[in-house]
Amino acid sequence: MRALTVMAAILMAATAAGQVPNFVVIFVDDLGYADIGPFGSTLHRTPNLDRMASQGRKLTSFYVTAPVCTPSRASLLTGSYPRRVGLDESEKGQWVLFPGNQEGLSSDEVTLAEVLRGAGYRTACIGKWHLGDQAPFLPTRHGFETYFGIPYSNDMGHDSRREPYRYPPLPLLRMERVVEEEPDQRLITKRYTEEAVRFIEASKDEPFFLYLAHTMPHWPQYASERFAGKSSNGPWGDSVEEIDWSTGEILSALQRLDIDERTLVIFTSDNGGATRHGASNAPLRGGKGTTWEGGYRVCFLARWPGRVPAGSSTNEMALSVDILPTFAALAGASVPEDRVIDGKDIAPLLLDADPPPGPHVAFYYYFMSHLTGVRSGRWKLHVARMGGRYPNYRANPIAELYDLHADIGESRDVAEQYPQVVERLQALAEAARLDLGDGLRKGQHTRPPGLVDAATTLTRN
Ligand code: MG
Repeated sequence: MRALTVMAAILMAATAAGQVPNFVVIFVDDLGYADIGPFGSTLHRTPNLDRMASQGRKLTSFYVTAPVCTPSRASLLTGSYPRRVGLDESEKGQWVLFPGNQEGLSSDEVTLAEVLRGAGYRTACIGKWHLGDQAPFLPTRHGFETYFGIPYSNDMGHDSRREPYRYPPLPLLRMERVVEEEPDQRLITKRYTEEAVRFIEASKDEPFFLYLAHTMPHWPQYASERFAGKSSNGPWGDSVEEIDWSTGEILSALQRLDIDERTLVIFTSDNGGATRHGASNAPLRGGKGTTWEGGYRVCFLARWPGRVPAGSSTNEMALSVDILPTFAALAGASVPEDRVIDGKDIAPLLLDADPPPGPHVAFYYYFMSHLTGVRSGRWKLHVARMGGRYPNYRANPIAELYDLHADIGESRDVAEQYPQVVERLQALAEAARLDLGDGLRKGQHTRPPGLVDAATTLTRN
């Protein structure tokens, strides 16, 4: 008890001195590696992100843990691989959760929002959730004081252009209530942005964590009147340019309120770009839903004036699971110690003038329940290629080695030239299989997802 009081006093003193940063995570849906100016886009106009990059740091080897939404989001919020928390695939053997699934993010998990809320932060989730639509799985049950958004993908309603409709009308939630059905998606980025700015204004005197998870540019893409039809890349480009505008509004609000020097803003994507809808992941191979770099390696910007060196960049490997322990370290909060957390504190990678080597020996590419690859240093070994189609996906064993430093586009398999590297990475893969499992093989350190006995669907009542 006394220790807690001392901790609280230290926290209050640190907060008063402005030493504890606010956190804003802008998590874009399906945005490609090269869809924004700082990562090479010449197609999309992204002046606000260009400015954000010039004032902050680019991470060019930042990975999410899955090439699709649900498992990637599970990792961001738990600091753990999707398979670790049982959300590598849905109960029905699908890539992601669908409306009315009985499964979701377990209440036994300690989320990033809970970690920060425990340290006195105000917390808000705005946008797409996609970690379960049953009441126990909603953001408000996972550490977010407020929620406003569409709780899963925007094609899981009546805009799927596939009749008969498989799902109820697309719900827009405030807290846990459906306040609109089939909201006008042209306005969704704008509404999220206004909501985000309001939260920042209301929380400016306290430390806060804003998780802004855009619905766009996931298919079907929409933009408001100011952006619709204005880009040179169709609806995809329109929605990306509106997200750039939105980011500018957030940064302006921080500046106007004079809190940008105590706010760390992260901008990244939940998975690689959906190329068939207009995304670019150049120079990476593949995209959303594939096990190539284009599925997992995403654009990443960090801005914190005075702390993150302006206009800098690092190619050291970092992972989305690192966000939780990093924010915890910066906030003086603690990471759960009674379970395996895969993430590591990457504050030095973000803040040091001369960034140290990344903290991970290996990154594991999982596709649904299957281990498909491992990266260590400059090397990436593909150990399986996914074949077939839902519901009969198979992982076909392979051993293809790519030197990501010399061949970022994974075009030359060099497995024959480097048998010892192959062997070393195969041993790392085997360690992951023991720990996390692979396909039907169960891992030793995995935790179950949340489950409800009977599912209902979200509708207005
Ligand atoms: Mg996505």
